[in-house]
Amino acid sequence: MKHQNKNYQIALDGPAGSGKSTIAKLLARKLGFTYVDSGAMYRATTLYLIENNLLDKSDKMISSHLKKIKINLKERKQCQIVILNNKDVTREIRTSIINRNVSNVSSKKEIREEMVKRQKKIGENGSIVMDGRDIGTAVFPNADLKIYLTASVYIRAIRRKKDLKDLSEKVSIKELIKQIQRRDDIDSSREISPLSKSQDSIVIDSSNLTIKEVLEQIVSFMPSQ
Ligand code: C5P
Repeated sequence: MKHQNKNYQIALDGPAGSGKSTIAKLLARKLGFTYVDSGAMYRATTLYLIENNLLDKSDKMISSHLKKIKINLKERKQCQIVILNNKDVTREIRTSIINRNVSNVSSKKEIREEMVKRQKKIGENGSIVMDGRDIGTAVFPNADLKIYLTASVYIRAIRRKKDLKDLSEKVSIKELIKQIQRRDDIDSSREISPLSKSQDSIVIDSSNLTIKEVLEQIVSFMPSQ
């Protein structure tokens, strides 16, 4: 296989709740690649800004803090653990307050530049599956395989509800649909690296597919041995 000779890069992009993280994690495990959830980096940054009362501060002020935001993604018991400045924030970054603010934070030029730089660097270390919004367009424009995973807004809201239930948060489907649409709008219309499908990516609509089926489809696009 091509990935036995060089670092093989799989870029998995798509909107909130399309199932990217679940698929990317399983795919990486199946292939023995590193898995990186780039959204977790924007979420951890959002948490830092909230905790330090920086959310409404100027871009200049926020930029001066970027170097202090140390984010580590670690594999533990087949889960990705997110460490922000030595604190495990894996659960905290999935809560509603982060969901509501992350798109505005991630639309800031300085933040995007810093995160993309960090993500490219992680990609130098071996074969990788990275999921996000701009992986195929900005982070790994030369990725070996680019997948754009999508699903209907309703299905995505149902998936999000399940995630939040696991965190013991109650939010109605109607409210979740609103939140998802708002996040899609901001993510797709921002100036820098908006959520968009690169021309060379393969689109998979996961609305009516099982996780196993999505995985099988993706693997079928990889070069065989
Ligand atoms: O994938 P997830 O929903 O965790 O991402 C959270 C948010 O982070 C997205 O709504 C988007 O605003 C931002 N993001 C981004 N670029 C990425 C990954 C995530 O702008 N590569």
